[in-house]
Amino acid sequence: CAAVGLLVRNQLRSSGQCARADAILKEFKDKCGAQNSKLKQVADAMTVEMHAGLASEGGSKLKMLISYVDNLPSGAEEGVYYALDLGGTNFRVLRVQLGGTERGIINREFREVSIPPNLMVGTSQELFDYIAAELAKFVAQEEDRFHLPFGRKRELGFTFSFPVMQTSINTGTLARWTKGFSIDDAVGKDVVGALSSAMERQGVDMHVSALVNDTVGTLAGGKYANKDVAVAVIMGTGTNAAYVERSQAIPKWHGPQSESGEMVINMEWGNFRSSHLPLTEYDIGLDAESLNPGEQMFEKLTSGMYLGEIVRRVLCRIAEESTLFGDTVPPKLKTPFILRTPDMSAMHHDTSYDLKVVGSKLKDILEISNTSLKARKLVVELCSIVATRGARLAAAGILGILKKMGRDISRDGEPQRTIIAMDGGLYEHYTVYRVCLETTLRELLDAEVSKNVVCEHFNDGSGTGAALLAASHSSYAS
Ligand code: BGC
Ligand code: MG
Repeated sequence: CAAVGLLVRNQLRSSGQCARADAILKEFKDKCGAQNSKLKQVADAMTVEMHAGLASEGGSKLKMLISYVDNLPSGAEEGVYYALDLGGTNFRVLRVQLGGTERGIINREFREVSIPPNLMVGTSQELFDYIAAELAKFVAQEEDRFHLPFGRKRELGFTFSFPVMQTSINTGTLARWTKGFSIDDAVGKDVVGALSSAMERQGVDMHVSALVNDTVGTLAGGKYANKDVAVAVIMGTGTNAAYVERSQAIPKWHGPQSESGEMVINMEWGNFRSSHLPLTEYDIGLDAESLNPGEQMFEKLTSGMYLGEIVRRVLCRIAEESTLFGDTVPPKLKTPFILRTPDMSAMHHDTSYDLKVVGSKLKDILEISNTSLKARKLVVELCSIVATRGARLAAAGILGILKKMGRDISRDGEPQRTIIAMDGGLYEHYTVYRVCLETTLRELLDAEVSKNVVCEHFNDGSGTGAALLAASHSSYAS
């Protein structure tokens, strides 16, 4: 009888505790809500901020940076060009051989290396020396057929995926770091200067012909492949977008009007913020404890560096207030950034009846063994809430750009096709996220328009795009 009493008490206790877990989840879900009406407000706020950022320097949280790219690749580019792509967890060195209008890209080779985490928070010289050394190795292994005629320097497009205030196509100062990089002595300095000195130290004889953001590189690479590309969006470790603006519509631009009458704008939308964003206490905590508090709020809600961390924060709270994961809070669960977005994605995509993948991820990463099916289901639901909010907000951001460009409504005559060049690991690998983003964008646009707006994945558009821009800005160009 006593045993039965204990059992009942335990069951009551555990169902009470589960109720607490469910309540935390429900409250979180409600706060993350991003119905279409709300997303439209977010999109409108994005459009408003775009105008403000174009009007004056510092006019908005959206920097709307001038890229100095006023002509996207034409297809006629010819020759061998290099690119360096630095911005997330990996960096790449590339060589692209361009064959002009007839032959297009003849050859493309790259080498990818991950960036040692200590270099992300060290000194500028250490980081750039490491990169230049990789470049030196790449060039040293090169076949003779790529050697340039005597007296001609190799030319490089540098994709540097951080906010840079450019002063020309190949100069610019770093405004600030994002995505876990924090190297104080580089802020405010010329990025190309730092790379060029490092190349000199490493004995690499190359000229940096173009400095581009990854979104701008992706736009260039995308446009080269398909002329309907007008916007580029990166959903990776961080997030950002670039698009083609009319230079007349950029009041803060006092430079010469280009022949094309256009200018590519690097929005730096990761720093977008609006009272319409569905922020929760977990997001506020994440931001406060981040390397860049108060900055990159849109990025912290939508991008790969943060989604897993948001999930961890909610799980931690659940572990503190319920016994769903045992009587005490599993110590690993208290470690910031221990749950990476690729692992979150793997759990979210688990379709086995007993959620085997979820179980083993919880065990391997968080050292929580023997989780109940109920606990695993809750984890999947949580991943879904976080990913859905992020993907839907990203779609709202895209709608904001289309509105600014006047491509959100159908006009008489020829339907205008808009391709959004997409890249980034989150978009590429997190299928549920990608599908949700694309479905939401279709929902937000009216049916006629949505037929002509397409998201297309351009794998490594940014590196290729930088090489193309190096070609079109070559110092040897006639
Ligand atoms: C950076 C952008 C970049 C984006 C995607 C953000 O954190 O600020 O410059 O384009 O990440 O890589
Ligand atoms: Mg990248």
